[in-house]
Amino acid sequence: MQLQQVEGNALFATTSGWQEVVYANTQAELSGVAPEPELSVKELRGVFKSVWTDTHRLCPTLPKEGHRYVDVGFDTRLLAEDQYARVLGWATRSEILFQGTWTSALTSQTVLQESLNIHTHYLGKLRVAKAPPGGWWRSTEGLCRSKFRLQDILLHEIMHIVGISTTIRRENEVLVAGSPFHGICFPSDFDVNIRNASGYRLVDHRCEVQIPLEKGPFYVNGVELYQHEEQFFQGTSLSHSANPGALLTASVGACLPEGPRNLTDIDGKLFESIGVACAGLTSAEASAWRVSYPQDDEERPSTAQNLSPEKSAAQSEAVDGVDSETPPARSAAWRRSTEWWGFAATAACLASTLSTLSRRDDLSQLSK
Ligand SMILES: [Zn+2]
Repeated sequence: MQLQQVEGNALFATTSGWQEVVYANTQAELSGVAPEPELSVKELRGVFKSVWTDTHRLCPTLPKEGHRYVDVGFDTRLLAEDQYARVLGWATRSEILFQGTWTSALTSQTVLQESLNIHTHYLGKLRVAKAPPGGWWRSTEGLCRSKFRLQDILLHEIMHIVGISTTIRRENEVLVAGSPFHGICFPSDFDVNIRNASGYRLVDHRCEVQIPLEKGPFYVNGVELYQHEEQFFQGTSLSHSANPGALLTASVGACLPEGPRNLTDIDGKLFESIGVACAGLTSAEASAWRVSYPQDDEERPSTAQNLSPEKSAAQSEAVDGVDSETPPARSAAWRRSTEWWGFAATAACLASTLSTLSRRDDLSQLSK
């Protein structure tokens, strides 16, 4: 049995949301209004636990104690360095090969248990910016105005951590998906559910990307997926809903005044596609009118794509794994993706091997 690390999904603020928050913060500073109190790691983890618990209440097939297996913390590069401008957070997950596809270790209690038999450490990783302009809003009382709400970001990332995002990525100018096991490439659960309007699968059971992306739109369980015009944004394209009323939109705006954003029926269909059952969700149609559509017409800086934090994150996980996280009794069964990809080069997955290895070098550049 095998676990592998999936590259993560960076969460951008919308251009309009970012401008709104920056403007409000400048005004507040000029008039001497204090920002939100500084967020500590301890408080961050507490809020994450409560968001996880609320999500589990709506989607009871998720593992109740799943939050314990997610490593939650800050990434001080976010918002602070040019290549991470407007990136509020990111997440990665570990996946287990389960019935022919890679499944997030945190999808269900059963899969979590299987994963813990192999690996008893963290099965997901989540990082947020230390402080957006004006600080993180996390109060559940009072009206939030022109701030980013911590709960919104955490809930968005939980959806990725439990398995909602594609593994399609560009490597050496070719789109690839999935990861190999014993030399054979397997896609992840979400990948095999992506279909075009005629119902044809985008990714087949051997990871082949079968349809040019410009022949979209593409859907999962009837939900149209976000694509950014002609360009493929790794970690963003095909990993989010195109519906502006959904929670899992490609980028997130400033807070709604009255409270955290809710999971909608659209998000519920995405959960359903990976076997997670939810009930009592808000109608996306009802929520759409009050959510200003996080439309991002502006091009994202190309460096954000090339040096996206999820790449370095996945990598640093892998490097950590080599150093310290191999459980001694099970080392033969346990390999981190980077190691594994280094050995399991097949024709189908050679591109990903080369790219993964070269990314390791990128990381050492980044951390200098
Ligand atoms: Zn996302």
